[in-house]
Amino acid sequence: MTHIILKKGRDESLRRFHPWVFSGAIAALEGPEPAEGDIVDVRSAGGEILGCGHWQIGSISVRILSFGTATLPENFWTLRLGAALRARKALGLAGEGCLSATLTNCYRLVHGEGDGLPGLIVDWYDGVCVMQAHSAGMFKAREVIASALHEVYGDQLKAVYDKSSGTAPFKAGLDLCDGYLFKQDGYAPQEDSFVLENGHKFSVDWENGQKTGFFLDQRENRARVERYAAGKNVLNLFCYTGGFSVYALEGGAKSVDSVDSSARAMEMTDRNIVLNGYGTSQDPAADAIHHSYCCDALDFLHEAPEDKYDLMIVDPPAFAKHRGALHNALRAYQRLNADAIRKVAPGGIVFTFSCSQAVDKQAFALAVFSAAASTGRSVRILDRLNQPTDHPVSIYHPEGEYLKGLMLYVE
Ligand code: SAH
Repeated sequence: MTHIILKKGRDESLRRFHPWVFSGAIAALEGPEPAEGDIVDVRSAGGEILGCGHWQIGSISVRILSFGTATLPENFWTLRLGAALRARKALGLAGEGCLSATLTNCYRLVHGEGDGLPGLIVDWYDGVCVMQAHSAGMFKAREVIASALHEVYGDQLKAVYDKSSGTAPFKAGLDLCDGYLFKQDGYAPQEDSFVLENGHKFSVDWENGQKTGFFLDQRENRARVERYAAGKNVLNLFCYTGGFSVYALEGGAKSVDSVDSSARAMEMTDRNIVLNGYGTSQDPAADAIHHSYCCDALDFLHEAPEDKYDLMIVDPPAFAKHRGALHNALRAYQRLNADAIRKVAPGGIVFTFSCSQAVDKQAFALAVFSAAASTGRSVRILDRLNQPTDHPVSIYHPEGEYLKGLMLYVE
């Protein structure tokens, strides 16, 4: 095994359980040249073992899996995944007999560093685990992870699907081909299957959809939208598979318009609207409670009449994928929010979000503040919104916080 020796004084963050070793902190490598994704151990300048983790090429060189040990402890994967499931049980999201299981049977089981598994995402969809490896190490460990999931869930686990190809930032000559790592005897994905979230039905296409197929991170914010939707004309921008739209309809909205530039996403939105018992049309002139628009959300908003919508949801994709893109991203958030605030009807509500990890809460609030100021309207912050409890943030790794939002009241 390769030993990674840190420069003098560069061991502090590891001693505080921050799980990343940056390339600039490394003094020397001892032993064989590691391949991307190999397990290496990390030592202080004085030779003390600080932990072990996955080696990767890039500015983060090691993502620590286990602190204080040179190799992974026995049963490492089962123990970590078991701990992740225990946490979800404590939250009332998982476990037999849990109150919410009849209403919600999908949740995030593993949220990377927040669950002590840097580089790994696992989402649970009523018996099917969909995993995404964001590091070569996690990708190489996918078979072990699948069998550990089986051990942790037992017969409850119907299948494990690996969906790493789209998001893997690593090359390492790995054969990235999505597919099932495990299937219970007789399991076959059903076209008409759906999951439940707060009692609402959603069809999830993990094989062809974005990310793991559904945005579980908006569960609690969708429930908020439901609470305020009664009698409102709602606009859901960047709707993906229509999560917020279904909740708005269930909350008694007068009408809902959903917009996304992806044709596949709009198809899924229509499907989910119908699945929950509502009518939908792609023809703006048609008499339906829900209308779908497959187009650019910024253009749609720009051309939307003033005062038509009483409630807007603005949930764009990450405008800043890295810190270098921060400046342009903030300007984009500002322009988008200015349009939303300008267009919403008097007494209207805007739910606005950013899922860019590089844009922190303060920066986002400042962008929205500038947006509000540019419209000259009176705007109040009614609520501050976050990622839900199954997307935990390790206290030692604040970078895990990524979803932020504001609920605004526009006079
Ligand atoms: N609110 C959604 C998640 C949004 S993800 C939910 O609750 O599930 C961001 C979405 O924005 C994706 O579906 C993507 O297709 C869409 N998108 C990206 N750029 C866009 C654009 N310029 N106009 C409209 N939609 C866009």
